[in-house]
Amino acid sequence: MVNISINENIKEIERKINEACKRTNRSREDINLIAVTKTISVDIISEAIELGMTDIGENKVQEITAKYDALNDYDLTWHMIGHLQSNKVKYIIDKVDLIHSLDRKSLAKELNKRAKKIDRVINALVQVNIAEEESKFGLKKEDVMDFLKMLEGYPYIKVKGLMVMAPYAEESENVRYVFRDAKALFEKIKKKELSNVEMKYLSMGMTNDFEIAIEEGANLIRVGTGIFGKRKYKEE
Ligand SMILES: *Cc1c(COP(=O)(O)O)cnc(C)c1O
Repeated sequence: MVNISINENIKEIERKINEACKRTNRSREDINLIAVTKTISVDIISEAIELGMTDIGENKVQEITAKYDALNDYDLTWHMIGHLQSNKVKYIIDKVDLIHSLDRKSLAKELNKRAKKIDRVINALVQVNIAEEESKFGLKKEDVMDFLKMLEGYPYIKVKGLMVMAPYAEESENVRYVFRDAKALFEKIKKKELSNVEMKYLSMGMTNDFEIAIEEGANLIRVGTGIFGKRKYKEE
């Protein structure tokens, strides 16, 4: 059974992605859409997968471990997009394909240790706090280069790009500078040709701002509400 509203929602997202690509002469194939499934049940996620979603984004380790086995029949790419505590790395190291939230040395150390243990190189994006918001995780722009150099000491981590979250804005046009800054940093790092770094993915843009993010160079966008509707959080 196809869930009508998810079907309609995905079509609408696709339309907007295509429009943003057209405006900036980009190709739709350059853009990877991650369905952000936090708080969404396995049944509903399955429907989105049947409608073509291949990339799943979660921000909590518990939700990944709870849903991973149930969705094992599908060929999925799993993204850890939220803040990652070092002591929980061991639960997801063999499950996720890309970690978007590498933001500190202690986490790098643990990722490297756990990846080595299962003899698998883990792909990660360095999270950058472009707007330097107190409430958000991520490195300051000016600290990213040193951080990447430090990561050369952790051979089981391959850096695949950057992840950025824009500040909340009533008018999404106001965060365009954040995406533009991120893209400039992305290109600057790319030129350095560091051995442990392949600048492939620029993860930015959510339901409210993904069109602007695409216009400014995002190639991984993370969309939850736009696909599944407003999230209902259970009372703790
Ligand atoms: C929840 C979340 C998203 C998706 O947000 P929506 O506004 O629902 O599209 C994207 N990225 C991160 C890191 C998130 O936690």
